[in-house]
Amino acid sequence: MAVIIDGKRISNDIKDELKARVNEQNIDATLCVIQVGNDPASSIYVKNKKKACEYIGIKSVSYELPDETTEKELIDLVQSLNEDKRINGILVQLPLPSHINSDAVIKAIAPNKDVDGFHPENVGNLCIGRQGFLSCTPAGIIELLKRYDIPIEGRECVIIGRSNIVGKPMALLMLRENATVTICHSRTRDLAETARRADILIVAIGKPRFITKDYVKEGAVVIDVGIHRDEDNKLCGDVDYEDVLPHVSAITPVPGGVGPMTIAMLMNNCVQSALQMTADK
Ligand code: NAP
Repeated sequence: MAVIIDGKRISNDIKDELKARVNEQNIDATLCVIQVGNDPASSIYVKNKKKACEYIGIKSVSYELPDETTEKELIDLVQSLNEDKRINGILVQLPLPSHINSDAVIKAIAPNKDVDGFHPENVGNLCIGRQGFLSCTPAGIIELLKRYDIPIEGRECVIIGRSNIVGKPMALLMLRENATVTICHSRTRDLAETARRADILIVAIGKPRFITKDYVKEGAVVIDVGIHRDEDNKLCGDVDYEDVLPHVSAITPVPGGVGPMTIAMLMNNCVQSALQMTADK
């Protein structure tokens, strides 16, 4: 019987641990969330982030800016928040409207307030094994594997997808945990054959129910990062869960797998940032 990895439970555990820590150590943390435009999915993510902050005891400040906001206006706001000693985490909700260059905005965030872990300095630190903020979704996946005692060291890990926010940092984190890592993308020649090498298969391809049992080695651990609404408006992942389930040793469901971990790890980064800023004073 496959283990169903309960990301909701682990995420709640982490939030409870953070809440206790904030309370016991009297940690003064403030996250600032900036949203440009009113994309409905982004609004839900922002709302959930504020709710998690409130639960843990992290203060939150938000800016809801109109669609017409210019790149310069947004960067000016980020720079003023960089200087603001009351704020220790800055998060710009992505995607941004197409007239704004996301890379330029992310680069403007002070690396020590970049709780999303997207700034090139934090990505570079991850690459060379130095301390820094980790990208939340990949960090959440490592946390799930560890809390379920799933061994990583020495195992074959295949990651499908090479985006800057999931695939690439995921590969670096698995490498840091001493897995043997393969990254697949749209030009990979035989995706199914490569995927079947995996002891741990991590899927971030952005295509609903794309990964069937043909891509999965018997007994593999499957981590599904994807999140979609199907034709019946039901949530599903990049993995065809029902098809794959009889063949795996452990799997993350959608919803309730990787998704809830992203916010938990964001909250963790906010607390780390507040502790670091206090230590630097
Ligand atoms: P993305 O930027 O669209 O990247 C998709 C990756 O998949 C790309 O590297 C692409 O290759 C690769 N790919 C596409 N079609 C392929 C194919 N037929 N064969 C092999 N590789 C293929 O996506 P993302 O931002 O990483 O997100 C992936 C999924 O995770 C989405 O469903 C997203 O909604 C979800 N997500 C969830 C969370 C969460 O908190 N749970 C967080 C972030 C993302 P190329 O590079 O060659 O184009």
